[in-house]
Amino acid sequence: MNTTGSGDSVDPVKDLPVAVIGAGPVGLATAAHLLESGLEPLIFEAGPTAGATIEQWRHIRLFSPWRFNLDAAAVRLLEADRWESPRPTALPYGGELIDNYLAPLAALPAISTRLQTGSRVIAVTRAGMDKTHTRNRATTPFIVRVEHAGGEVRDHTVAAVIDASGTWSTRNPLGTSGLPAIGENTAAARISAPLPDVTGRDRASFAGRRVLVVGAGHSAANTLINLADLAKEEPGTTILWAVRGASAEKVYGGGDSDGLPARGQLGSRLRRLVEAGTIELLTGFGISSLKTLDTHVSVEAVDGRTLDTDVIIPCTGFRPDLDILRELRLNLDPAVEAPVELGPLIDPEFHSCGTVQPHGARLLAHPEKDFYIVGMKSYGRAPTFLLATGYEQVRSVAAALAGDREAADTVHLELPETGVCSTDSGTSCDVPAASTADLAGSAESGCCAAPEPVLIGFPTGLVHGRSAEQKEDTNS
Ligand SMILES: Cc1cc2nc3c(=O)[nH]c(=O)nc-3n(C[C@H](O)[C@H](O)[C@H](O)COP(=O)(O)OP(=O)(O)OC[C@H]3O[C@@H](n4cnc5c(N)ncnc54)[C@H](O)[C@@H]3O)c2cc1C
Repeated sequence: MNTTGSGDSVDPVKDLPVAVIGAGPVGLATAAHLLESGLEPLIFEAGPTAGATIEQWRHIRLFSPWRFNLDAAAVRLLEADRWESPRPTALPYGGELIDNYLAPLAALPAISTRLQTGSRVIAVTRAGMDKTHTRNRATTPFIVRVEHAGGEVRDHTVAAVIDASGTWSTRNPLGTSGLPAIGENTAAARISAPLPDVTGRDRASFAGRRVLVVGAGHSAANTLINLADLAKEEPGTTILWAVRGASAEKVYGGGDSDGLPARGQLGSRLRRLVEAGTIELLTGFGISSLKTLDTHVSVEAVDGRTLDTDVIIPCTGFRPDLDILRELRLNLDPAVEAPVELGPLIDPEFHSCGTVQPHGARLLAHPEKDFYIVGMKSYGRAPTFLLATGYEQVRSVAAALAGDREAADTVHLELPETGVCSTDSGTSCDVPAASTADLAGSAESGCCAAPEPVLIGFPTGLVHGRSAEQKEDTNS
């Protein structure tokens, strides 16, 4: 590996592996591209298996079809092992993405021998130097500190580090102002995971209970609709929905601002459930504090209103965990916490899903040489990441680390003009597909029912991001 970038200089760390943090779809794709580039990946995965965060939402259907969810280098590895590719136009559930792609990929000897599961990276630094040391920094190996299963902590010496650890483990807090509500941590036992399977494996936690959903994205919309299905069978179930804004119009979508018929359908169904009183909507309900009592939790809004609930579902989005990168020299966008040049391209204030062009190592570079953040985490707090974009990122990063600057700078990804989101069940980039039968289905239902792609840029429903939403608010 050329760690100095000059192409012909002596490289003191060339025999060391490249650490990949996370074995999600992007981490595994990174490993496949590193192998093709002649580099040695060492993958650390915190969970028990590859795809551990997708395991949490295996009941949710993706909005992009198989052909955009597979990485080319990973497919080459799999095909050498007689793997059967899924139908390219079908929309997989999260569980299918694991079972039919990530698990077989992780089981290949080329990957499995380089994958350490149950291994959480807790810090990354340069060997023998903290962040303030500059001399010989670029040619000094990295140290990746890992807490392995059983609690043993070990330092691993590597030539480069690619952080593909996603953002799932750090959800945004319930409180306003970006901070946890007062009492939020104490109420942890009454706050669920962000996308529970309320009609399936997590049913018992919600059936017959008073449930508060917090948030105004499509995670909230999907969860509310699934809760309404649950309430039909479990009549004691009460559904409350708190949003900070003055209305839920943007979740309902509709009219010209709705690029996706299915999202319109989802929004209309949600609106009907609210109008029918199945869901009690509380607008302008920014949460200030939570009080945990013996039998329930009392939630107080900034304006003094209170409500009681048994369990809270936080649909508040995610942010990157930057703590493990504290000793590295990063250059992050001050608003979005993405690499500084990428930030303005994905800022949710101005952009919606997919409007960012494919990009690679150059855009993702940090002052810390040979360190990259890729995948979901590379988008920082922006909710609009697409796998297809991530696969192009890691192809380019692997080429850059191998010293092939030309390959690194040549964009390979060709997204069709119409985009990668499909109309049959797509709803948004953060949480796209309802698992309810009336919204899913058409793409799976027959050989001719290929999902019809829609424009990249529409799935959040905000063609110009939040700035457009504010304009609409002012005009209405
Ligand atoms: C419900 C939902 C539906 C989505 N649908 C689509 C879709 O249809 N199409 C699309 O293109 N995108 C979709 N996305 C967006 C995105 O593609 C996915 O979130 C995808 O999982 C991101 O892949 P990743 O590899 O970057 O991160 P992840 O899949 O989150 O993988 C990160 C991995 O890193 C591990 N990890 C985390 N921290 C550490 C650590 N400190 N040390 C070691 N390992 C660690 C995690 O356990 C995890 O396995 C969806 C997202 C969600 C939430």
